[in-house]
Amino acid sequence: MESKKYIDACEEYILHTYNRYQIVLEKGDGVYLYDAEGKEYLDFGAGIAVFALGYNDKEYSDALKAQIDKLIHTSNLFYNIPAAKAAEKLVKASGLSKAFFTNSGTEAIEGAIKVARKYAYNKDGNTDHEIIAMNHSFHGRSLGALSVTGNPKYQEAFKPLIGGIKFADFNDLESVKAQINEKTCAIIMETVQGEGGIYPAEPEFLKGVKKLCEENDILLILDEIQCGMGRTGSMFAWQDYGVEPDVMTCAKALGCGVPVGAFVLNEKAAKASLVAGDHGTTYGGNPFACAAVDKVFEIFEERDITSHVKEISVYLEEKLDALVADSDIFTARRGKGLMQGLVVKDGVKPGDIVNKALDNGLIVITAGSNVVRMVPPLVITKAHVDEMIEKLQKSL
Ligand SMILES: *Cc1c(COP(=O)(O)O)cnc(C)c1O
Repeated sequence: MESKKYIDACEEYILHTYNRYQIVLEKGDGVYLYDAEGKEYLDFGAGIAVFALGYNDKEYSDALKAQIDKLIHTSNLFYNIPAAKAAEKLVKASGLSKAFFTNSGTEAIEGAIKVARKYAYNKDGNTDHEIIAMNHSFHGRSLGALSVTGNPKYQEAFKPLIGGIKFADFNDLESVKAQINEKTCAIIMETVQGEGGIYPAEPEFLKGVKKLCEENDILLILDEIQCGMGRTGSMFAWQDYGVEPDVMTCAKALGCGVPVGAFVLNEKAAKASLVAGDHGTTYGGNPFACAAVDKVFEIFEERDITSHVKEISVYLEEKLDALVADSDIFTARRGKGLMQGLVVKDGVKPGDIVNKALDNGLIVITAGSNVVRMVPPLVITKAHVDEMIEKLQKSL
């Protein structure tokens, strides 16, 4: 067992903050991953909704190799070419106005929070503004992002967190309304809740929140870190609702594996919030990360990835619905596009199903306490869906 040596080394030298599956992944090709023993896995996890294009995509890899040979890092004291290209593509794809590149999703959330506070500060000079976040949300693990993450279990030991955060219930407009006062500067939510258990926003809810934001001059921050980048069938999930955020956060599939995130502002937020000196990062938006972003957008357009997602997700939903109808373990399916969750009945642990699936050569992941989550590479075909269903069925 080649793998055991690496597992032991990781457990000896890496701080144990994850209970990992006992598998060492070594390489990938298309929608398949291979462990150190050479075992093949059909991947419906994509490194948690990251590797949208599938593994070992030649065009993507070649673009990164070429950039490595040219220039990897410059600092933000200078301009660089890939950042110019990547920012233009990101801004145009979103229809928003200005982007700031970060190194992770969490950092994009930190930036969005600072935008909101500065926007409100510019208006009234006060320093006690409030942000409304959602229960069962997930926005990251740094202290700011954790403060707006509606999961007391993650927060408890790390208090005090940042102040002025109030929680409302996702898809419950009245509960949001009840938290608004003259100090409220932003409402933050995922367009489709991911970690919390795959809950898409209901259209009336999102439209209602947007209306509240407009009426009260509150910024709407939509976290598209997991549900963005084509995952739900439009480039960004909110585009399907016709509700534009003032600030959007991206990461995960934005660089398809190269660590990069961004917060993107509309004109209103951009012209009245962060200015020179207000925010910064050493790595953020470096040429290597931006070469990845630039190439990802180019490939999305060339191969019309969003149309493919729209098409293939109809087939996936059909198959999953049939599985749920037949199964005495799953009680419901929730999701949008290639972001799907199967709810397990009481007493079943989704982690047990994930482990069985791994034995059968299928990677799926969990969400919340009772959901098996699927966030495959966006390039899956019907044959992959059929193979997944067969392997999942075997795992029940
Ligand atoms: C993963 C995730 C984050 C955090 O991103 P990191 O890159 O892990 O810092 C924030 N929000 C959502 C919705 C996520 O899925």
